[in-house]
Amino acid sequence: MNDTSEKEAPDVNRQLAQRLRDARSERGWSLDRTAQETGVSKAMLGQIERGKSSPTVATLWKIATGFRCSLSSFLAPPPASGPAIFRNADAVRARPASDPMLVAPLFPFEPRVGFEWLELTLAPGYTRESEPHAPGVVEHIVVIENSMEVLIEGEWHRLQAGDAVRFAADRPHGYRNSSDEPALCHNLIHYPAMHGQDISPAGA
Ligand code: MN
Repeated sequence: MNDTSEKEAPDVNRQLAQRLRDARSERGWSLDRTAQETGVSKAMLGQIERGKSSPTVATLWKIATGFRCSLSSFLAPPPASGPAIFRNADAVRARPASDPMLVAPLFPFEPRVGFEWLELTLAPGYTRESEPHAPGVVEHIVVIENSMEVLIEGEWHRLQAGDAVRFAADRPHGYRNSSDEPALCHNLIHYPAMHGQDISPAGA
């Protein structure tokens, strides 16, 4: 897989830098506090805020989880709402630098629906074990192309194209592609605590 996604990087970095600054100021968190909450070093956080670093998907997840936010809010602004929202995966697929996973925020998180819908492309040999998301978070995986494995309750389950699974994602879980071909899946993540949440901060 040649890296031809260079042109995507600046946009992703800008959105990420802005969102991280906003998330910190909404909460009044210093860089020190943010490092504590996310497990990402202060130096790395500073670089990201200055648009000088393209973090891996794993780092992005740590940041999103530390803020109790969706992943997609750091990748793309929510699409303008309306009676219908049309999206194209090719147009929104982005790869944070040096990460062998492509993430297309098909439908970025919106409080009114309480979920984000991602298209994930796992490079051959890709393995990721994920830290638990916030309490109550539920993930759905639908394999679209080729096959992959999902780690649930300590056990890897093989899924073929057309297979789907829903699992509690507030515990350790993971994704793996041990084949020689890229695997493509849809990943719908429901955040019950943020569902219907008003834009105004509700005291927590
Ligand atoms: Mn996850």
